[in-house]
Amino acid sequence: TAVTEGWETEHSLRALGDFFYRDAEPTAVRNPQWIAFNQSLAEQLNIPEKIRDTDEGLFIWAGNHTPDWAKPAALAYSGHQFAHLNPQLGDGRALLLAEVRSADGKLFDLQLKGAGRTPFSRGGDGRSAIGPVMREYLLSESMQALGVPTTRALAAVASGEMVFREDAVPGAIFTRVASSHIRVGSFQFALLHGGEDKVKALADYTIARHFSHLAKIDDSKTRYLGLLTQVAERQAELVNQWLRIGFIHGVMNTDNTSICGETIDYGPAAFLDSYNPNKVFSSIDRRGRYAFNQQIEIAKWNLARFAETLLPLITGDTAGETDKAEAIELATRVLDDYSEYANELWLTTMGAKLGIQHVTKADLALINQFLALLHQYNIDYTQAFWQLANELNCTQSANSGPESPTSSLFLNASAAANSDFQLWRQSWLERLISNDTSAEQMQTNMQQVNPAIIPRNHRIAEAILAVEENGDLTQFNALLNAWQHPYEMPRSESELALYQGPAKGEEVTRT
Ligand code: AMP
Ligand code: MG
Ligand code: MG
Repeated sequence: TAVTEGWETEHSLRALGDFFYRDAEPTAVRNPQWIAFNQSLAEQLNIPEKIRDTDEGLFIWAGNHTPDWAKPAALAYSGHQFAHLNPQLGDGRALLLAEVRSADGKLFDLQLKGAGRTPFSRGGDGRSAIGPVMREYLLSESMQALGVPTTRALAAVASGEMVFREDAVPGAIFTRVASSHIRVGSFQFALLHGGEDKVKALADYTIARHFSHLAKIDDSKTRYLGLLTQVAERQAELVNQWLRIGFIHGVMNTDNTSICGETIDYGPAAFLDSYNPNKVFSSIDRRGRYAFNQQIEIAKWNLARFAETLLPLITGDTAGETDKAEAIELATRVLDDYSEYANELWLTTMGAKLGIQHVTKADLALINQFLALLHQYNIDYTQAFWQLANELNCTQSANSGPESPTSSLFLNASAAANSDFQLWRQSWLERLISNDTSAEQMQTNMQQVNPAIIPRNHRIAEAILAVEENGDLTQFNALLNAWQHPYEMPRSESELALYQGPAKGEEVTRT
């Protein structure tokens, strides 16, 4: 293989032994063609020019050429899928190539997705359709711009081959960058197939990689309880970000729950258009397990599964029944703290979205009333919060009603909707009087937590169709660019259209 000079990669996970992975080579594709390459991420990761959006890069990111710096491996994991334990999952269509260090010293996984079958593929083809690859590219880069922890998109390459889903569709290979691919499901795999020693090895690796300050704690029970606490805090913060921007992950299985707290696996993920707390996007989520408003609870359920894997480490070696009971009590307390923290974060975030400076539980009624109005009248979640900030320009005409920016959204629904909104608006404006900032500053603050434009499903669907039918990447590239600035109302006519929600009948209900 060709040498990529002057570039060093790492393979730290291999030190854990091949219990946690299987070596596997990517399978070459017929005719690789560029979809996208992320120059700024490549820069951040110090990836040599030679293997970026070059011919050599194309072959590497298609899986047609394994360079000297890569040691491809499929990782093993288990997972609860829709609450059912599957002991044998693993990367069925993903290969870890290497770990790379960013300019600021952080370690990242480089992973090909859709590069062919692996020892964990079972009945699957190991491939990805071009649509999901484009969705993951657009969504993950948008999430980054929105300020939400996420895996990243380095490259997307069309394979020149068809894959067979419901129909035959073009295939593609996606290069994912993640702070790591350690999941709750990785710990479940360790416990189920290896026992306490393997859990300990993975926990120590995880601490060294993500929570190194914990390594200094001498008492092992305290250390591993600390790991649980840290992971719980990151999950609380992650889900809080999702709720802020109206994001539905869609398939929060334990194998899709990243230990380091990044959004991972954009399968049926999508954003709310009109506000509906019960919204689901996954076509198989018939019972709404992963609905928008379930996400704090589901993350807790997943954390409970994580806690179960750590119990032997929290209990200690010479544990009797009382020690076990104590370990369970300690872990349960961490989970209860998680709930408290997640709810606190939600209150703070919703307060900030409404421009309330020192939010307290007394504001819950105001928050919930607004959300109830959005739900009742099918008002767009993103537009409503964005426009609310603009109300602060017209405080002198507090009774102006129809002229207020948010009114037009409600008037669109009905006159009754608008009069309900006007009532709420009065009490909201009264609440803001106790802020000690100018209206202008309040507006600025609100527009830093409320995006103007989000990656809307119907736009993504259009961009995918243009590529599937005509190989036309124009829309994909336009969306990618525009969604890099979510907290500004675009100025150009064409980008302004991205503020709009879907027309009636154009809504995407399942992804
Ligand atoms: P997901 O629903 O994306 O979290 O995937 C669940 C499991 O199915 C993972 O172990 C994947 O690697 C595997 N999988 C998904 N799609 C394929 C495919 N096309 N070929 C092989 N395995 C797959
Ligand atoms: Mg997954
Ligand atoms: Mg998936």
